[in-house]
Amino acid sequence: MAPKEVLDLKICIIGAGMGGLATALALAKQGFRNINVYESASNLGFVGAGIQLAPNMARILDRLGVWADIEKEAVDLKDTSIRQGATNAELGHVDLLYIRSTYDYPHMVGHRASLAGSIHDGCKREKDVKFFMSTSAGEVKSWGPRPSFEAIPREGEPYSVECDVLLAADGVKSVVRDQLLRLKNIDAKIIDTGQAAYRIMLKREDMQNDPELLELIDKESVTRWIGEKRHIIAYPVSSKNIYNLSTVQPDRNFAAAPSSTYTTQGSKPQMMEVFGDFCPMVKRMLDLVPDGEVCEWKLRVHEPLPFWVYEQTALVGDACHPTLPHLAQGAAQAIEDGAVLAIALAKLPEVTPEAINKALRVYEKVRMERAYTLVNLAAASGRAMHLGEGAAKEERDRQFAALKEGKGPVPDKWADADVQKMIYGQDVMKITEQDFDKIYASL
Ligand SMILES: Cc1cc2nc3c(=O)[nH]c(=O)nc-3n(C[C@H](O)[C@H](O)[C@H](O)COP(=O)(O)OP(=O)(O)OC[C@H]3O[C@@H](n4cnc5c(N)ncnc54)[C@H](O)[C@@H]3O)c2cc1C
Repeated sequence: MAPKEVLDLKICIIGAGMGGLATALALAKQGFRNINVYESASNLGFVGAGIQLAPNMARILDRLGVWADIEKEAVDLKDTSIRQGATNAELGHVDLLYIRSTYDYPHMVGHRASLAGSIHDGCKREKDVKFFMSTSAGEVKSWGPRPSFEAIPREGEPYSVECDVLLAADGVKSVVRDQLLRLKNIDAKIIDTGQAAYRIMLKREDMQNDPELLELIDKESVTRWIGEKRHIIAYPVSSKNIYNLSTVQPDRNFAAAPSSTYTTQGSKPQMMEVFGDFCPMVKRMLDLVPDGEVCEWKLRVHEPLPFWVYEQTALVGDACHPTLPHLAQGAAQAIEDGAVLAIALAKLPEVTPEAINKALRVYEKVRMERAYTLVNLAAASGRAMHLGEGAAKEERDRQFAALKEGKGPVPDKWADADVQKMIYGQDVMKITEQDFDKIYASL
């Protein structure tokens, strides 16, 4: 364990999403004693949607002592099937059972509430993690040597918070990132991907009179239906009591909306129209969504940043590497950030502002290239799935055909064995443990 003076550092985390919660828990597990989490929301009423729980995420959560609870309700995937949206014909089929024996953890799918709720429960069991709910971070007044920011509670007067380390895990709309970019005169903008997503959760009882749909919810499988500029990915969650669907389609509704808006109530007729040329089974599923319960998300990413660390402040998760969901790695990467940060800070050889800045930069060195590689790969995978008629689509479909013969890469990159090796085979905690001294000395 790190020396007492290191563990007594006051660390403030802005945001209690996947990244903020994982960072708080990872710091507590390293023995830090003064961890403070500021969250705008009054409670963590987690978004009703499914999430893929990849082995690189599971490995970290297991070490943090919360994976067993998440695993209980999650569904262990056997395979994935990629199909033509219009015909339901299978383009590719990939076995996923090998993942557990190869990477020591399975690839599972679960409910977001279970994932975030279990990490939150883990934090609540740690006496040294304090939550300040209904409290937004406003202006960052100092980035170091003692970072400080304005905390704005929903009730009561704003007050100033000072700390030794400030970690901004405030999501894709990060106010801390925006201030930092302004300060450094960097023009890295939010990129409008032109894509939006419907998030849908169907209840088992609504599917049970339809044998084809029942078969889908009963299978330990991720199914992706693809079409030009659109796809739908679906899998069972919550012990197969819920079938989770997440779509991607051209964004028609948000273009004129203010940039702070990311979700809206979608129109069911419009959703049915967008997927109007998909096969009857997919349309029957979409038709089960009650009117007025169509939830549409804007998909936004951000231009890569030249740095994530300034003085004694660092950005975490979507605040610095938001991604399209096509590799299912956004939350996993935010959790990797938290685990790496906690190890880097626990390895501080001395408690000085310079040392803290260097330890944060070790985090940046371990994480930045990997995170941005996956952001780019997710975007490329989306492009491959959304191809319209033409040579590129013919080449993609040739790859799918070769796959049936057991040869070559999978165009849907999250299911490609080489991509999985790069993502799941890398243990970022071990790398930080092993390489900290070398990287620290090089800075
Ligand atoms: C359609 C879709 C599907 C996805 N599927 C997957 C998947 O299968 N697997 C996967 O790993 N990832 C997936 N992701 C990505 C994943 O959800 C995100 O990458 C992840 O939630 C990012 O976590 P975060 O903590 O960085 O940000 P967030 O989860 O956005 O958390 C930010 C938190 O900060 C709070 N906050 C914001 N501003 C302030 C402020 N000023 N003061 C205080 N608090 C503040 C917010 O209220 C929020 O709680 C998906 C994303 C989408 C859109």
